[in-house]
Amino acid sequence: MQPAKKIKPGKKVKLSHYDPEPDTGLSKEEAAERMKELSQEVGDLQESLYAAGQNSVLIVLQGMDTSGKDGTIRNVMSEVNPQGCRIESFKVPTEQELAHDFLWRVHRVVPPRGMITIFNRSHYEDVLVVRVHELAPEEVWQKRYEQINHFEKLLADNNTIIMKFYLHISRDEQEERLLEREQEAEKAWKLSVGDWEEREYWNDYMRAYEEALSRCSTDYAPWYIIPANKKWYRNLAVAEVIAQSLRPYRKRWEGSLSKLAAEKLAELEAMRNAK
Ligand code: AMP
Ligand code: MG
Repeated sequence: MQPAKKIKPGKKVKLSHYDPEPDTGLSKEEAAERMKELSQEVGDLQESLYAAGQNSVLIVLQGMDTSGKDGTIRNVMSEVNPQGCRIESFKVPTEQELAHDFLWRVHRVVPPRGMITIFNRSHYEDVLVVRVHELAPEEVWQKRYEQINHFEKLLADNNTIIMKFYLHISRDEQEERLLEREQEAEKAWKLSVGDWEEREYWNDYMRAYEEALSRCSTDYAPWYIIPANKKWYRNLAVAEVIAQSLRPYRKRWEGSLSKLAAEKLAELEAMRNAK
């Protein structure tokens, strides 16, 4: 199963060509079973990643309000040791952040070797909300696509494995979810007038997303479009990509772990023999 669509470098993305709720041929029960296996695998991979300390993993989550960025993190990372994983959320920049280049606040929180960091929103806001609301002049944000590609190349060249997910929901699904929040006391804290106001800019956002996905999907930092109208399908699709992307590294990580173990044991033996 490959429910996520990986964007080929240079492909011109039209979001209306991607179904946020495709026919899956999968029952919810089958999906739950598969999800359990995948979360376990992601947890195991994280353990090797951490112990080997050779690579870091950066996962970028983007999507419209209510697209499920928080829910995805909760579900996909359920079996991951919290010590090896950090979540970084990007809000409206502070005055200090605005006084720097847009990547300053981002670069300081990228994952060190051995760690997974998930960006809940990211540097892409600087070509999304900033573009839609003209928070910076066009000549400023136009340059950012290339700057982002260079930045991500720098990270990739320094052993960071990068995956970027666009959680694709329909405008109708967003309306349903916003109304649902009003009905559920435990979700109401998430409500904001701003969410309804942002909805008015839906088409502008789609255009901004299309350009970011078209210009910034690379071999070293690919974008994936995730059908996200159904939460269980969204979780499965994201977990599948993470497991698939990390699996090829497993042998190398485990190889370096056996080497490390042999060295430690030799040191212990030498210490005992010296007595
Ligand atoms: P939330 O994710 O719902 O907590 O909201 C965070 C808000 O911060 C969203 O409305 C984003 O559009 C906004 N935001 C994040 N990054 C930036 C940025 N670089 N410039 C302006 N607004 C941003
Ligand atoms: Mg919000």
